[in-house]
Amino acid sequence: MGGKEPYLPSEVFGAIPQGTENEPRALISPHRYIQGQNIINNLGMYISLLRSRHPAVLISAGGMKRFGGRIKERLESSGSAPVFAQFGGECSESEVKRIVDFLGKEDNRIDSLIAVGGGKCLDAGKCVADRMDIPVVICPTIASTDAPCSAVSVMYSDDGVQAGPRFFKQSPALVVVDTQIIIDAPIRQLVAGMGDALATKYETRTCFNNQAAKSMIGARPTITARAIAELCGDTILRKGSEAVEDAKAKKVSEAFEQVVEANTLLSGIGFESGGLSTAHALAGGLTVIPSLHENYLHGELVGLGIVAQLLMEGEKQEAEHISRFLAATGLPATVEQFCLDIEKDAEDLKKAAAEAIESTLTGSEPFKVTTEALFEALREAHLLGLKSVESVGGAAYRYLHG
Ligand SMILES: [Zn+2]
Repeated sequence: MGGKEPYLPSEVFGAIPQGTENEPRALISPHRYIQGQNIINNLGMYISLLRSRHPAVLISAGGMKRFGGRIKERLESSGSAPVFAQFGGECSESEVKRIVDFLGKEDNRIDSLIAVGGGKCLDAGKCVADRMDIPVVICPTIASTDAPCSAVSVMYSDDGVQAGPRFFKQSPALVVVDTQIIIDAPIRQLVAGMGDALATKYETRTCFNNQAAKSMIGARPTITARAIAELCGDTILRKGSEAVEDAKAKKVSEAFEQVVEANTLLSGIGFESGGLSTAHALAGGLTVIPSLHENYLHGELVGLGIVAQLLMEGEKQEAEHISRFLAATGLPATVEQFCLDIEKDAEDLKKAAAEAIESTLTGSEPFKVTTEALFEALREAHLLGLKSVESVGGAAYRYLHG
């Protein structure tokens, strides 16, 4: 059994040999990535690449109802004998232990773990596979975050309070993205994923240009990660609106495929090997406000964070462009669209800014970021958002209130 001691990628990728002038640059990624319509039907064939005959499938009760029968049938027809474990809903230490104990009792020949679901199920699957020392196969059912491709899980307490990241020595062995499944998920999830993905371009750029900044794995970003991150953001800006329209029409189009790839693969490699900065720091900080933590998706918070980051960096034109994009695409572009008031809720928003500074991610910026400056940037982003909402004809963030 592996993975008992906490593993920190920075101790490996960020370690500098004596007598070295430049810091090492490094990139990690999933071993294989496959995306397409109805490809979940080929799951049996794909896991043969891992020489897996006895896979376990981690899936929620709802997921089991929707996809369980098909997955079971396809795995069995290709000669595998899957064991199903039900995911309880939280990526916590006790839930991971419960699943590992259950699978150990069921069949000790289990040689791969297939996690099917949203971010928390996939993250729990990575933990279980690491604990059992077997490869993990990731099948996302939504495209709302860049979690599928990374070698890190966000841990929570059993009550849903964030308890920090856990890193793994192995990246997912296989990521299988069925775009038919993704298009059947709520559009709000896809749009939130676009907010998360769009940030990758600007956060990696900040990390790349600042010699003192490091990526999530603790190394300097490669030019590959920089190019991937740029392509990620540009794909969202070029194809995002079209993909949203196609998703509404339930059409798995070329634009939709490209945006799903940006949300999942490009953004995943971008944040992990390119790095994060103020947009994510602010998004994380904002979750200290309970109404935001409970009602809004990660990528929705990140979206406004990008505008604040660009304003701090003095990139006014880009900030305006992104603000208009948020408003036009249906991402919250103002504090109002998060049901907050910039004046009345200023104390809470200042607390969020202070929390963001605590996260150390603002350390990627080439200047010192203070709570006051970050709050001011958020206020400016909000004011810019008011104009953007007006300029796109008053289109408001509409997912929460119908
Ligand atoms: Zn993110």
